[in-house]
Amino acid sequence: MSRTGHLRNLFSTTYGTAPTLAVRAPGRVNLIGEHTDYNDGFCLPMAIERDVRVAIRPRTDKTVRVVSLEQHGVVTFELSAAIPKATDKAQHWADYVKGCAQILVESGESLVGADLALTGDVPLGSGLSSSAALEVAIIHALLTAAGRSLPGAQIARLGQRAENKYVGTNCGILDQLSSACGVLGSVMLMDCRTLELTPAPLPAGVSVVIADTGKRRGLVDSAYNERRAGCEAGAKALGVSHLRDASLHGLWDAERKGTLSPLARQRCEHVVAENGRTIAAFACLTAGDAVALGQLMDQSHNDLRDKFAVTCAELDDLVTIARALPGCLGSRMTGAGFGGCTVSLVRDESVQAFVAALVPAYRAKHNLPIVVDVTRPAAGAGALNLA
Ligand code: ADP
Ligand code: MG
Repeated sequence: MSRTGHLRNLFSTTYGTAPTLAVRAPGRVNLIGEHTDYNDGFCLPMAIERDVRVAIRPRTDKTVRVVSLEQHGVVTFELSAAIPKATDKAQHWADYVKGCAQILVESGESLVGADLALTGDVPLGSGLSSSAALEVAIIHALLTAAGRSLPGAQIARLGQRAENKYVGTNCGILDQLSSACGVLGSVMLMDCRTLELTPAPLPAGVSVVIADTGKRRGLVDSAYNERRAGCEAGAKALGVSHLRDASLHGLWDAERKGTLSPLARQRCEHVVAENGRTIAAFACLTAGDAVALGQLMDQSHNDLRDKFAVTCAELDDLVTIARALPGCLGSRMTGAGFGGCTVSLVRDESVQAFVAALVPAYRAKHNLPIVVDVTRPAAGAGALNLA
């Protein structure tokens, strides 16, 4: 049965009736521009062909009921001023749903209650943004139930706010904006300061290959906070609001004057260089230069490993294996790091052999369930045909 068929079944067995509407929101992969979004910088993401789908039946009261094919239990809450957080850890996933409802209510949207059923095939916690796909899908679903809509960038901001304020993850805008505003067939240069998106098609003859190391990031909150603190220290030392406005020269100068520690300077160097690489990568895309794009992806990974220090043995090994295979133009970690996925740029004629060689070579080093996807840029969130 299709995923949509399973979704219809879940809805009718849970609520005893059929859904009337449905929406979807994709995950994303970032080709380059990592740990730049919360520094007001640039990223180069595309929406992927994995998504979260929500079947909807509007209600006449203010009750929301939600069930997920991937999680246990039906969660019920009221659309009121203060929506309670989940107290049961097993229902933590519902905090994303409640958080989105809460942020919509706070922003003054007039919502109606709804029965919702959802399913997702974006792997959880592997750097392809299942959480943003869930948030953007739920915001679309609640707006759709009320017969309303909002521009994609606004939906992305609401989703980000829900994750920041309600779930407590201090994420930037990259994930939600990619999911809300993805462009079919295109990669997007994202300006995280203005939220401006400039699409460009992938160069002809190359494919994007996502490989999940199977390693899940553990408790890394303190590591993220240290990286963010380093970025903030750099911006402060240079007297700018964000590292977007910093230069490498300024960072070295601040270190020499003793206003920036050597470690913070090293972290900031990655961010400043990565912004430059991302703009250069977009120029490669528009020029159709896949070879130069791949080289920039390699450099990005090397800085994330050596300067920003957010890779791990699994990511480094998978990248090293990929780069040595014929037809691979570049390979890097994607997402926040410490586990999750790599993204590689591979010539079309080599893709099959690339995947066939990558899996056993990685398994020989790490006994983890590697999953490989050859993916194309997908459309951003929107209505879904339930038929
Ligand atoms: P990532 O966004 O990198 O996949 P996160 O830790 O940010 O990882 O978000 C993963 C969380 O999102 C899951 O633990 C779960 O709470 C929620 N989630 C994602 N997809 C679903 C789904 N299909 N059903 C229920 N919850 C989901
Ligand atoms: Mg996430």
